[in-house]
Amino acid sequence: MQKSTILIVDDTETNIDILLELLSNKYDLLVAVDGTTAVETVLSEKIDLILLDIMMPYMDGFEVCESLKRLKETKDIPIIFLTAKTDEISIAKAYEVGGIDYISKPFKPIELLARIKTQLKVKKLIDNLKRSKDELKLLASTDSMTKLYNRRYFSKVSEHIFDLAKRDKVPLSVILLDIDKFKDINDTYGHNIGDEIIIKLANKLKEHQRKSDIVCRYGGEEFVLLLPNTSSEGAMTVANKIKEEVENTTTDISDDIKIKFTVSLGVSDIENRSENSIEAALIRADKALYKAKETGRNKVICNILNKDIN
Ligand code: GH3
Ligand code: MG
Ligand code: MG
Repeated sequence: MQKSTILIVDDTETNIDILLELLSNKYDLLVAVDGTTAVETVLSEKIDLILLDIMMPYMDGFEVCESLKRLKETKDIPIIFLTAKTDEISIAKAYEVGGIDYISKPFKPIELLARIKTQLKVKKLIDNLKRSKDELKLLASTDSMTKLYNRRYFSKVSEHIFDLAKRDKVPLSVILLDIDKFKDINDTYGHNIGDEIIIKLANKLKEHQRKSDIVCRYGGEEFVLLLPNTSSEGAMTVANKIKEEVENTTTDISDDIKIKFTVSLGVSDIENRSENSIEAALIRADKALYKAKETGRNKVICNILNKDIN
């Protein structure tokens, strides 16, 4: 297992030597002899725990602790104060500024080792919990097959983006995309190959996506794109590009299975409207998509002000 890295912050050489001697076979150690160097070291190295002296010239231990607790990248590193100060006010202040433990010098070596070990264990548990939480969050918002966002995420984020677009009076467009005659693909080649087609199309949509665009798998073979800062004309350009690229692509499943398919797309935007949710724009995009299907498929139709524009 990889050793944890401890930063020793102390301005007295003998103290540093004692700690190096005690800790060096269990941990990787770094040393800083003043507060400023301590902060710089924490910012540039991966530190798992800090042993922090209080009385140091220029920047004392309290200030070091406070400034590390203020920064997002360093606020979760456990800090144990290790100090000659034994008055209650200093002890209380050490906890107040964010210290996790307080040990007075001269310390008892075995006790110090035990306390360090405990804090590293707690830190590891917290890190694991955080990681699980992030993973759960990702799982809840993504579609496992395509790794695109799912409908649930779309509903949540689209209202927020809608509110921002309204507030800042900037355009916002939506594109609904549905694979044409997908049932035939399933019936001809089987469900697994159908799945593969959906994944390949999802990857193509990811390639087309700009940084601010939200691309989601909306349903089985249906996708939605939310394009912030994009007028319906801009969205039409994007939609037509996708349509043409899909039309001109042959998907190689194996040496003898090569599939061509097409998509239909409905476009809409929120411009010049008094609506207060994205839902209405989605309904218009859906109407446009329906029209594209009805009038031959492999098409983009834009529905603004409920008038269809090809
Ligand atoms: P249209 O051009 O009108 O859209 O025709 P279509 O056949 O694509 O339309 P429809 O919506 O009736 O059929 C979609 C089919 O997609 C039905 C469903 O079985 C299939 N499907 C939905 N989700 C999945 C999936 O995850 N994998 C596979 N392989 N098929 C799926
Ligand atoms: Mg379809
Ligand atoms: Mg469909």
